[in-house]
Amino acid sequence: MTAVGSGVSAAIPSHAQIERVVATAKRPFVLIGERELEALRRAVATPGPKRDAYLKALSADRDGGRAAGVSIKASAERWAAAEIVIPQRGGHVHDFFCDCGTQLALPPDMQPKPAYTCPACGKSYSGEIFDAAVRCFRHHQLAAAALDLALAYAIDRDSRYADKAAEILRKYAEAYPGPHSDHLTGGILKQSLNEAMWIIPLAQTYDLVYDSPSLSDADKRAIEHKLFRPAAEGIRVCGLGGNWGSWHLSAVGVVGLAIRDAGMVEFALRAFEAQMRDELGDDGLWPESVHCYHFFPLQAFIYFAEAAYRAGIDLYNLQPKPGKGLRAMFGAPLQYMYPSFQLPAINDGWYVAWLPLNLYEIARLRYSDPVFTWVLAEGCKQQARAGASGPTRSLSRLVGPSLYWFLFGDPTIRSLSKGVKPPRFSSTNFANFGLCTLRNDRIMLTFHYGGFLGHGHPDKLSFTLFADGALLAPDYGTPGYGSKILHWYQSTAAHNTVAVDGADQARSRENNLDAFLSGKVAQYAQATATDVYPGVKHTRAILVIGGACFVVDDLTSDTVHDYDWLFRCEGAPRLFADYTDTQIDTACYSHVKLDSTQAFDGFYRVTWRAGRCNLAFGLFGSGIAGLGKCPAEDDMRHVSFLMCRQHGTSARFVAAFAPTRPGEQCSLTKTGALIRVESGNETIYLSTGTQSTGSLTTDADLAAVRITNGRVTGAFLANGKRLAWKGKPLIDKASTTATAESVF
Ligand SMILES: [Zn+2]
Ligand SMILES: [Zn+2]
Repeated sequence: MTAVGSGVSAAIPSHAQIERVVATAKRPFVLIGERELEALRRAVATPGPKRDAYLKALSADRDGGRAAGVSIKASAERWAAAEIVIPQRGGHVHDFFCDCGTQLALPPDMQPKPAYTCPACGKSYSGEIFDAAVRCFRHHQLAAAALDLALAYAIDRDSRYADKAAEILRKYAEAYPGPHSDHLTGGILKQSLNEAMWIIPLAQTYDLVYDSPSLSDADKRAIEHKLFRPAAEGIRVCGLGGNWGSWHLSAVGVVGLAIRDAGMVEFALRAFEAQMRDELGDDGLWPESVHCYHFFPLQAFIYFAEAAYRAGIDLYNLQPKPGKGLRAMFGAPLQYMYPSFQLPAINDGWYVAWLPLNLYEIARLRYSDPVFTWVLAEGCKQQARAGASGPTRSLSRLVGPSLYWFLFGDPTIRSLSKGVKPPRFSSTNFANFGLCTLRNDRIMLTFHYGGFLGHGHPDKLSFTLFADGALLAPDYGTPGYGSKILHWYQSTAAHNTVAVDGADQARSRENNLDAFLSGKVAQYAQATATDVYPGVKHTRAILVIGGACFVVDDLTSDTVHDYDWLFRCEGAPRLFADYTDTQIDTACYSHVKLDSTQAFDGFYRVTWRAGRCNLAFGLFGSGIAGLGKCPAEDDMRHVSFLMCRQHGTSARFVAAFAPTRPGEQCSLTKTGALIRVESGNETIYLSTGTQSTGSLTTDADLAAVRITNGRVTGAFLANGKRLAWKGKPLIDKASTTATAESVF
């Protein structure tokens, strides 16, 4: 940590330095500074996108309470005329969900009602926990309103806005019932987490109207002593672990800066340093879930880091351990996200989650790395595309100009980004999180091999598949935690892995990859699970080569089991042959409905037609295949579900996937012991064991040859020494190697 502009130092400023910085920072500085405001006023005064955003629309702030499409100016005008009534203590927003997984419709006036209705299925609910949830939303809305008023005042200098912002602060000081004493007791919101999220915009508001005539000295004393101090002192005792701790420390830090309390700021700085050192993974990811719990603490940190930065303390370049800090938290997700900027919804959290461009505005501001310019320009394009065509209703509210873009963004980002090279995307192993990506220019898979972490799911060895611009086989994350259907998302069957005897996996403690190759022609990973089903060993290998990918599973046990290979896919399935109808018992999968169950011997072939991208699929071996439907991101939308059961002491599944664009032909066949995928001008041959005769000979467990326009262009093997094609050696090693490839 360092004073701004004085070079990088890893030391926290001394108590005396913190006291000086906190006492002398020139207001406003907590959210935005005077020079930045001057630029903003100029931008808003002239026709252009900033003026449009100010007057007409800003995207929703999911955690902050601003509705979609409502501009700061419109919000300020509306609230300036509103009567401010502070509600009683609020409850928990996750209680405000229908059994089907959809959030209930909020009353437009945000006041408790006799009943609340589900907009998806029409079911209605009533009672105190729902009223309390509405009050929680209302508190967040009032805090967001105060900030909109304060920003509008800072831009327009209209005293009506400052008066109303000051009124909200004064009324909260009168109504505040007393601090939290633990994370669910005390405060004005049930969870100390919500209390932290609510107090931050109020502290930013206070800083913005502090020097206005709307606040008297007596007001300031009352607001500091009856609202900010007790709230921050309460949050401070509620713990510093996990993402709650991130919000707790940030709220204490932001309040400390806003009321110039050096003790609070020092506490927050030390807690921030400890979280970066001890909680952030060495791989740069927050080890809970990335789409939700990585950016959730990052959002909190930025509130604190921004306020500290303007005061003269640089948290952006603090690295308590080499490579660990805010820079890593911005950088690592770029290799984790799908090419569409959607984030794989592994573990708990909303399915529809995108790289949050709002936060990347701050990355561009605080780091000179052009990669963040590219992220913003390309991200806008991708999100506009998805907003126009996406199947998911909740996306549109997140697309559009964001608050940080409005405050600090550059409207000419697209032309600025011309000539900026995109980052080099490559297969990446996030070793702490226990997930690797496998990708080439058409395909990206995630492979979740790691142990069970906070907010984890029993999804060991599960994969997701993205190809040709479409997320074909996702993990759907979770709906709201209050949903009755939550247990489905937290079950093994809701994931693309192998379930044993229909049971959920135990929580794994293993976090190892057997092999990983980020190659020029082949992308490969292999992992083994021995602790998720007692007495069962499961090894899964995934290979991406050219336009095909292969998933090979081996399961062994001393006793007999039902082994269920599970997969779901967007789009409509089409079966390619007649198989024999038969029966299997799937009572264990409560939310799965099978339309057909068929025995096959040799090859089971399906193609999913998903609009932008089709997926040819073949499962080689024998077993009973069940094709039907299961819930997608909630119980109102269902997707195609495929399971394949083998029964015995062991099982082997060999699956081949080939994405095709509409109109492209793909043939998937087995000739002798070789699987052949032919698409366009490319053919891939895969061998899943030793071959001593035929075109492809090898001693490896897994081997593949890529042929382009009739010429061998690549070869790969796993756990072997030799691979030859028509007698010509392609790979020839002196000793057995985990992975090897050749490019021709
Ligand atoms: Zn419903
Ligand atoms: Zn999951």
